Amino acid sequence: MSVEQMNTDRNNVSGFCLSDLLRMEASSSCSTLTNDTDHASCGPQQRLENILSEPGNGFCADCGSPDPKWVSLSLGVFVCIKCSGVHRSMGVHITKVLSVKLDEWTNDQVDALVSMGGNTTRNLKYEACLPDNYRKPKPDSSNEERSDFIRRKYELHQFSSSDEALYCPLPSPSSSPCSQSQTSCSYISSTDHRHRRNCEKQTATSTNRFNGLGHAFRNSWRRTSEQKSTKKSNSMAGMVEFIGLIKVNVVRGTNLAVRDMMTSDPYVILSLGNQSVKTRVIKNNLNPVWNEKLMLSIPDNVPPLKLIVYDKDTFSTDDFMGEAEIDIQPLVSAAKASETSTIHEPVQIGTWKACRENTLVRDGIITLEGGKVKQVIALKLQNVERGILEIELECVPLTQ
Ligand SMILES: [Zn+2]
Repeated sequence: MSVEQMNTDRNNVSGFCLSDLLRMEASSSCSTLTNDTDHASCGPQQRLENILSEPGNGFCADCGSPDPKWVSLSLGVFVCIKCSGVHRSMGVHITKVLSVKLDEWTNDQVDALVSMGGNTTRNLKYEACLPDNYRKPKPDSSNEERSDFIRRKYELHQFSSSDEALYCPLPSPSSSPCSQSQTSCSYISSTDHRHRRNCEKQTATSTNRFNGLGHAFRNSWRRTSEQKSTKKSNSMAGMVEFIGLIKVNVVRGTNLAVRDMMTSDPYVILSLGNQSVKTRVIKNNLNPVWNEKLMLSIPDNVPPLKLIVYDKDTFSTDDFMGEAEIDIQPLVSAAKASETSTIHEPVQIGTWKACRENTLVRDGIITLEGGKVKQVIALKLQNVERGILEIELECVPLTQ
């Protein structure tokens, strides 16, 4: 009997059916939130607060901290600020994190969240096979313990019942089901199968070749040394402590380089330490206006924020359109220094002077306004014939 057959058989007799029923029930009870009256009576932010006040969402889905203020939109879970840092470090292809308070939500995003059913429903899926003796992280757990669990839960799907019991380890009388023992080989290869399938599906359907390549690379790497790579990413993530968040509004590009016949299809990749996020592609435009807000966690060694502009190509490799690097340390220091400030009038608290040595088009002024520490920057793109990129940065203290 093949592994898949055995797992399918197990599916028929396991608790998966129960969790499925519970999930259906949970989503049907939530559906009242998506009706027209609800849309009309309150905005997305209020609807989000309503969902947050539902019983299962009052505690972090990963460590149980009370009053979580962060959401993984792609996974449908409410998490605390510490766990949100780990989520963010896994990359947006796995989990896209938004803030309940700091992000501007749309009704569509809230609908998507509602349809996933909240923490209780999602944990029925992602923790269906969590062994009884497994110690989930607690609110005061170390960052290492936290990130180890979160990666096993959402990246490796070690406890999932998704699609479902297929990816659960086989029950074995001699070993704990989800332990890293010999039996685990069977589920790792199953997980791998699924990743590969997802990857193939994504590469086939997505026009976003960059992502497709990323997945393909990740999976080829995973196939050769799954266990070694897990250990490596865990230990790397465990070393990173996040001291805050940087909200980057990629405002616009001006006079960008031509990479197609007459124009380009530009997008921007931002990276900070191990994390990277990107904007949407704007077609046929050398003066694109993205006005797109992206968020990254700030590791405690405060690496520079790197920006790279690419031209999206459908049939060949995306073309480079310039890059820039920003030292965000002054902004972070200013934000730390102003954390307890009670000034409400807008005030200038620092400047990154434009000069011949740096790439600034004009001074990058750091301001404090209504408790928010921001910096507006216009940069000449480097290693390219032309192009200016304007961005706005906001540093958010970890306490929010
Ligand atoms: Zn947490």
